Amino acid sequence: MTQNDDQRDKGDGMEVDSHGDHEAGDSEPKKERVLHTRVPAVLERELKRFADNLRVPVSNLVRTILEDALNVADAATENVESRLRKAAKQLEHERERLKARVKFDPLKDIFAFQRVTLAQDATCAKCERDLAAGAHANLGLSDEPTNGKKKPRIFVCDECLPGAR
Ligand SMILES: [Zn+2]
Repeated sequence: MTQNDDQRDKGDGMEVDSHGDHEAGDSEPKKERVLHTRVPAVLERELKRFADNLRVPVSNLVRTILEDALNVADAATENVESRLRKAAKQLEHERERLKARVKFDPLKDIFAFQRVTLAQDATCAKCERDLAAGAHANLGLSDEPTNGKKKPRIFVCDECLPGAR
């Protein structure tokens, strides 16, 4: 039996998975961990709207925001939620900068593109143009993630290939 008086956002929040794969410090070994946190419904809506707008997964956005927050925050005592809240407040101002960072993300681990014929509809990860089944596209190849998580497939159109145009 649990009391729920203090759970103001009961049922309204969402679980956020955030995978940090960046170095934690110069002396610490590279670590990856999954963070589970509850975020208030208002923040959830804002994050989802923003992520939707950028067409990136919410977790991707959250990770970028957290990385950003970690870069500026000196307090190690702050918890994840308050960092997120703080970061969300700055969303409006930092929208463009974050956009550039998050947008850049999908292709940053790609080491090569392989020309393929699509069997299913897809979207160019860079210009977001729709790519129809049967069309040629370029599959982004990247190393298997070390955390065992499946990476989303990345396709780009011919115009968005590096060196094109
Ligand atoms: Zn494109």
